[in-house]
Amino acid sequence: MVIGPKWNLDEYEQRSAIVPCVGCFTDCQLGVYRCDRCNWPVCKPDCPGLVNANLHAIECPILRFGGGPKPRDDPEAVFDYYRYDAMLVLKCLALQIHNRPLFDQMMQLESHYEARKGSQYYRDADDRTVQYLLKNFLAPLKKQEEIQGKTVLPVADAKTLHKICGILEVNAMVIPLTNGREICGLYPIGCMLEHCCMPNCFYTFDCTKGMKLTFKAGRNIEKGEHLSTTYTHALWGTQQRRDHLKTNKYFSCSCARCADPTELGTYLSALRCLGVDGGGCSGYQLPIDSLNDASDWK
Ligand SMILES: [Zn+2]
Ligand SMILES: [Zn+2]
Ligand SMILES: [Zn+2]
Ligand SMILES: [Zn+2]
Repeated sequence: MVIGPKWNLDEYEQRSAIVPCVGCFTDCQLGVYRCDRCNWPVCKPDCPGLVNANLHAIECPILRFGGGPKPRDDPEAVFDYYRYDAMLVLKCLALQIHNRPLFDQMMQLESHYEARKGSQYYRDADDRTVQYLLKNFLAPLKKQEEIQGKTVLPVADAKTLHKICGILEVNAMVIPLTNGREICGLYPIGCMLEHCCMPNCFYTFDCTKGMKLTFKAGRNIEKGEHLSTTYTHALWGTQQRRDHLKTNKYFSCSCARCADPTELGTYLSALRCLGVDGGGCSGYQLPIDSLNDASDWK
């Protein structure tokens, strides 16, 4: 549906001078080459991704309305202007120009808008992404639309942007590139697979075919059995997985693995008994009720 730079960057990544090319996502240095239409950094002036209708050509006409970093020699202003974590949200919004039915289909995906509203995630997204996009690109675009009497982007309000932030948080998949960089993608069918902490499928991306997503069976699957993948990390312990799912995906997992304190005999989150004064026995400490975050251990 849409692929682009990661929507969730940590503070270190937000202030990196090595950024993904807006055309092809290879690493490039801030301030070397720029797209001659929108001024965003590119790997080389003729990167083929710049004119690709599924890559930079989606957002370039909107980014053009940005005034660029001011003053240009202040590195903080430069980092603050080129917010790569807002790019995927803008790409999703711009989808309405090129493919309205696909945009409408995307807006139907789960965003947990009501649950997010007022949360820390919502406030962070407002600050970092929504107001940034409105102020730098969407407001100037709106002004031009009014002058020319022609609407380019019919839907461009803060609520829609927040919904897109939620949709990405719930549905976006991380794509590891061969150069070590991670980007994100939204896949209408891929995000329908249900979660399980012992998934029966795993997925791969084909970089040579426009990041085509392929699911493969990880074990024999019975007829009628639901296909599943994992929305968290399979090698994390139950408490960590459930906490991650609750925070990012808004549900409490109670799959067979989560419900079993020993995690199906793997003892993945068990603590070895340390005893008193270092004289531990060979026993283990396990949560009494692994589906209760506040459970006692014994
Ligand atoms: Zn490039
Ligand atoms: Zn451009
Ligand atoms: Zn689970
Ligand atoms: Zn003991």
